[in-house]
Amino acid sequence: MTVLRTIQDVRKALQNKPGVGLVPTMGALHEGHRALLGQCAKECDTSIVSIFVNPTQFGPNEDFAKYPRPLEADLEAAESEGVQYAFVPEVDEIYHGNVTTVHVAGVTELWEGALRPGHFDGVATVVLKLFNIVRPERAYFGLKDLQQCSVVSRMVQDLNLTVDLRFVETVRAQSGLALSSRNTYLSVELRTKASQLYAELTKCADQIVNPTADVNSLVEACAEQLESLGFHVDYVALVDPHSMRPLSAGTADSRIIAAVRLGGVRLIDNVPAKNG
Ligand code: AMP
Repeated sequence: MTVLRTIQDVRKALQNKPGVGLVPTMGALHEGHRALLGQCAKECDTSIVSIFVNPTQFGPNEDFAKYPRPLEADLEAAESEGVQYAFVPEVDEIYHGNVTTVHVAGVTELWEGALRPGHFDGVATVVLKLFNIVRPERAYFGLKDLQQCSVVSRMVQDLNLTVDLRFVETVRAQSGLALSSRNTYLSVELRTKASQLYAELTKCADQIVNPTADVNSLVEACAEQLESLGFHVDYVALVDPHSMRPLSAGTADSRIIAAVRLGGVRLIDNVPAKNG
């Protein structure tokens, strides 16, 4: 594993390297990240993970300062998945003197975009910068962050980028809880409770399979059930994963998305909810 600290290090290391695959991360790597890293290492001649806690995607009252940064363990995890390079820049290396941001309209209007103002501008800006620094042929993202996938897809399409995007299905604990670096903020007790989110979303998805289902009532009932289990629900919705607009009936690739808060920790998740 070669650790690269500067943009110049990356350019030198990757010069003339074939088939570069990039996995952008904020570190605190778990099995979910490992799935992306393993797939990248397997499919690409040259694989690189970026580990960068991106300040511009955090709101003023969010957890930028306390976000976990276990770098040594992360490098070991990436290496054991067969990844060759890690790009681990300082904030200044990425943002020194920058005044330009990328704003992807439309798909950012609702859900996380509405509740976390500026979040997706930070995501789109850093992802475009990483694409320009690394110039990957392929880049890997997790479907757990469904709206992020849709934002990056729109950006690639609208700005005529040539990177080939690969989306990887969510990796879960045995309980069903979607793995997340932020799960470490949950007590053991709350972690058990948190797994009920996936159970309720799956139940709702199973009912949406029925073509005569009243989607609005099902989604509302799911939100009410989650509230009664002790979650504070930010939203539950059936959406088209490309436009991120709400749907009133399932489609071939529709998904139920949800964001909830539990003991001060915010959890997001989504499951497929196919029609028929
Ligand atoms: P993060 O470090 O949270 O920015 O995540 C880096 C990448 O890993 C993003 O593309 C995430 O969507 C993806 N990811 C995070 N959690 C999971 C998971 N449980 N399963 C699959 N991918 C994930």
